[in-house]
This record gives sequence, C-alpha cells and structure tokens, in this order.
Amino acid sequence: MALYVYKFGGTSVGTVERIKAVAEKVKKSHDAGDQIVVVVSAMSGETNRLVALAKEMQVQPTDRELDVLLSTGEQVTIALLSMALHNVGVDARSYTGAQVKILTDSAHTKARIREIDEANMRADLDAGRVVVVAGFQGVDEQGNITTLGRGGSDTTGVALAAALKADECHIYTDVDGVYTTDPRVVPKARRLEQITFEEMLEMASLGSKVLQIRSVEFAGKYNVKLRVLSSFMEGNGTLITYEESEMERALISGIAFNRDEAKLTLTGVPDLPGVASKILGPVAAENIEVDMIVQNISAHGTTDFTFTVNRNDFARAKSVLEGLRNELGGNTQIIGDNSIVKVSIVGVGMRSHAGIASTMFKTLADEGINIQMISTSEIKISVVVDEKYLELAVRALHKAFDLDQETA
Ligand code: ADP
Ligand code: ASP
Ligand code: MG
Repeated sequence: MALYVYKFGGTSVGTVERIKAVAEKVKKSHDAGDQIVVVVSAMSGETNRLVALAKEMQVQPTDRELDVLLSTGEQVTIALLSMALHNVGVDARSYTGAQVKILTDSAHTKARIREIDEANMRADLDAGRVVVVAGFQGVDEQGNITTLGRGGSDTTGVALAAALKADECHIYTDVDGVYTTDPRVVPKARRLEQITFEEMLEMASLGSKVLQIRSVEFAGKYNVKLRVLSSFMEGNGTLITYEESEMERALISGIAFNRDEAKLTLTGVPDLPGVASKILGPVAAENIEVDMIVQNISAHGTTDFTFTVNRNDFARAKSVLEGLRNELGGNTQIIGDNSIVKVSIVGVGMRSHAGIASTMFKTLADEGINIQMISTSEIKISVVVDEKYLELAVRALHKAFDLDQETA
C-alpha cells in the first residue's frame, strides 16, 4: 500500500465533467488499495474573477480581506470533488487549509507554510477515506486565513507530501509533463523524461509557471518524489530528480521566459560612491523587487543605471525615481520601458561547456533581435529583449540548441 498526494490544477477541475473525471481517477487508485490525499485548485479562471471583484470594491483592498476572498475558490472545489467521490462510492472528506491546520506565517497573499498538523488526515486515511484538501491556503497563529501566492496549490501538494512522507507527489495539470519550453509557444517543444531540482528551480523562477517555485524548493528540501503529469491522458510525465541523466545529456535542458518585466533607466547619473544604494534603497523601501541591474562604464563622470522590475511595479518604481531626480542632481533623465521580456536558457550542462553564451547571442543576432540586457549564473543565461520578439527568440533558441522534436 502506497500513499500518494495528487494535486489537480484549475483546468483539471474547471467543469463539473472534469471534477467527475478526477473522482474516477482517484477512485481507481483508491480501489487499487493506495491511500490518497487530493489537493485541488479553484476552477480555472475563478481566482482571477475574485481578484477582479475585489478591485471593483476598492482600488487597494487589504491583503487580509483579499485572502478571505481568494481562498473561497478552493473551498468550492474540495466540496464538489468530495461529493463526486461519494457519488462513485468512495468515502472522502474535504478540508480547508485551516481545518487541516496548515499553519503559515502572517504574510497575507504570499504566506509561507510553517507546520502541518497531520492528525486529521492520518485518521481519515487509516479509516479508508480519501482526504481532499484545499490548495493555496492556510491559517496563521491568530486564526487569519492566508494564501500562498498565485500557483500556490502546487506548494500545498508538495508540503502535504513532505508532512505525510508520501511515496510520491503527483502534480496533474493540462500538459503531460515539463517541456523544454512552454509547449503553447513552441509546438516543437519536447517533454522531458526527467529534470533536476536545480534546473526546475531556475525554470520556475525564470518564468515557467508549470510549478510554483516554492513547491520545487520544498520538494528539494524534504526529498519529495515529485512528478508532473497530465490530468487527461496516461503517461509517465516528468520526474523532478537529484540525478543528472547520463543518457543524452543536453547542454541546455530548457528555455524559460517571463512577460511580466519592465525596465527603468536613469541616464546622466553622477558616478560617485553610494549612488547605486541611493537609487535602489528607496526602491527596496517600497517593497519593489529588483531583478537585473546594469551600470555602464562612466564616460564623463556620469553613468547610466538600468534595472528591471515586475511589470506590476513599473509605475510605482518610476514614481520613486521621479522623487529622486533632484537628489541625484543635474542632468538625470528617467527612461521607462514596460514592453520588454526576459528569455533564459537553463541547463546544468552549461557548467562544463564553453561557447553556450556565444551561440545564444549569435542566434538572436541572426534573427535581428537586439539584446538589451544580459545576466548569467552557473546554469543559466538570461537576456532582455523587446516583447515583440519573444516567440521568435524562444523558437530560434529552441532550434539552435537542438531541443526541437524531430516529428512535430
Ligand atoms: P495548473 O492550473 O494545473 O496549475 P498552470 O497553468 O499553472 O496549470 O501550469 C501549466 C501550464 O504551464 C501549461 O499549460 C503550460 O502552458 C505552462 N508552461 C510553461 N512552461 C512550461 C514548460 N516548460 N513545460 C510545461 N508547461 C509549461
Ligand atoms: N487558485 C490559485 C491560483 O489561481 C492557486 C492555484 O491554482 O495553484 O493562483
Ligand atoms: Mg499552476
């Protein structure tokens, strides 16, 4: 008898029929004698709908009330799935995050899980029941409802698997695994049989939303056997693993991209000690996360300073800079661009091979794509380009690094 945690995303529970199909799938494993904990997302589109509703009430709703609202999407699906399971003769019980007692910190809308009480779930599993848990939510010490950030049901799934020492955690979604890049952008993308935690972490943090970053961190930390599979078809999916596959080790495992980027440049900044902190200090104080930073070599005692932020923070970051202009002196100009994207190539194979960067840059040059910024780490190279080149850049790089599927 094995214990599995199955997580089903929004599309997988998006209609009554699909919830019934999930119930059938769970029944099959349950009938085979396995213990099953199911984590579900809200029905697809529901969380966005709730966010939009909140914004109609108030321009800037408090994060506490947002969490009370957003957590309702998952409360609907746990109840419906439990009913669907009862309907096919499977004993099941639904739990909200607070009912399980998924204890989190109090950082509303991006809370972190601290502790999970497994007593209720264990008792149900031992009684032969399927346990159905609402993803994306928890409760803080004071009893406030919290949510874990968009895509957070993945993290609920992995965290429950860690707490219960499950044999495997399956993330069922609308694609049949992790691909070399988003298959919606590159039809020739290939499914990966396996990918290392390190690579998956980079892919997730560079924009591949197939898994929430924190779920990958959690799985790596607690040694959870994690697999991404399709809700709709049979198959092995993709195993996230510590081992690098010996066979066919590619230089590049995948290409990630992020459309939610914006760029701010300050020109004519005096080239003096302390200027970078003068600029980025107030930005950080506004809780705006800065990603890439580039400072030019100073020509005549002044320099240009460019950094990127999330597109949602663009307007706020720009107004912080406007406020700094006098302080920075004389000829400082602010140039903003919120139509940029970041494209990244990821692979542990990069460590032992030179020339990856030059292949990347030549490929983009051959397509006439201008690179605006570059950043590198041991297993990734990221470039910022105009958003109109996103698809072209990703497809060209996919081909250049031999990732294209032979038969599309
Ligand atoms: P769910 O609602 O099941 O959580 P998501 O929409 O969050 O599903 O994640 C699945 C989506 O991630 C896919 O539909 C796909 O478009 C996108 N995606 C982005 N990058 C990748 C990738 N490298 N491999 C697979 N899917 C990817
Ligand atoms: N429903 C939440 C969201 O849309 C959580 C999730 O689906 O993982 O972000
Ligand atoms: Mg998701």
